[in-house]
Amino acid sequence: MVQKKGAYTVITGASSGIGYETARAFAARGRNLVVAARRQDNLEALKKDILSNNPELDVVVRATDLSVMENVYQFYESLKEYPLDTWINNAGFGNYDSVAHQDLRKIESMLHLNVEALTILSSLFVRDYKDIEGTQLINISSCGGYTIVPTAVTYCAAKFYVSTFTEGLARELEEAGAKMRAKVLAPAATKTEFGKVANNVCECDYDRLFGTCHTSRQMAAFLLELYDSDQVVGAVDRETFEFRLCGPRFDYAGNSRHNQKAVKSQAES
Ligand code: NAP
Repeated sequence: MVQKKGAYTVITGASSGIGYETARAFAARGRNLVVAARRQDNLEALKKDILSNNPELDVVVRATDLSVMENVYQFYESLKEYPLDTWINNAGFGNYDSVAHQDLRKIESMLHLNVEALTILSSLFVRDYKDIEGTQLINISSCGGYTIVPTAVTYCAAKFYVSTFTEGLARELEEAGAKMRAKVLAPAATKTEFGKVANNVCECDYDRLFGTCHTSRQMAAFLLELYDSDQVVGAVDRETFEFRLCGPRFDYAGNSRHNQKAVKSQAES
């Protein structure tokens, strides 16, 4: 396959909502793209839209279900021939229900996608690209990844994972002197297909359910602000809906004397 000039930005969950608008925003900056999700038609429509404005760009479409781990590894492998510089783990969904009543098949799939796929793709990207200047990993968490929201406990717990994993990785990369930066975006209510999927409904009236919310386009602009900054976290305040950039928010036991001492490998001992 012929590659166009310039590195590629990978965006999972680009067939709708925040991922779709983020792909358009990166394309407007002249970036080649890899866009992934299950709905191929939506991804092809996105590609057509981008190429009509930016015919010089390359948009690689990967239709895949990332809640299946075998697909996750295959997806990463399929990108070996492309030089990457930015990876955005955005694919994800939520669920509103009590823990006692929640649909466990849906929860399994949510954890596979929101937690496992994100961890595997982050790890593979870090392994291959951490020492390359200008590389960034951005994981999409949520306000619910810093605050527990009623009727969304399991979703929030999964997003707490995304926030802590990514903040910890950001520390690890910095301490190792790596060139890659890892960052967390934490949106509050954003008008996308999220509400339909999380509530198992065909239509979701965001104005009635949430009152205040951002559009996907606003969220993509916030993501670019985070991308351009030196900060680790870009989060919407759930009460004021203001977007703020800041350093890591979780406690970190970086210098604790109780940390495990470095373990010697078998070859060293
Ligand atoms: P969305 O419009 O529903 O987009 C979700 C994206 O994830 C879609 O492209 C969807 O594509 C993809 N996806 C879902 N299941 C998938 C699977 N099994 N394999 C591959 N891709 C899959 O919702 P969104 O709001 O833009 O969500 C983007 C991210 O923002 C999510 O991580 C979400 O948790 C987070 N977030 C959203 C809000 C909000 O209020 N909207 C708030 C906080 C955080 P396919 O269906 O085509 O696969």
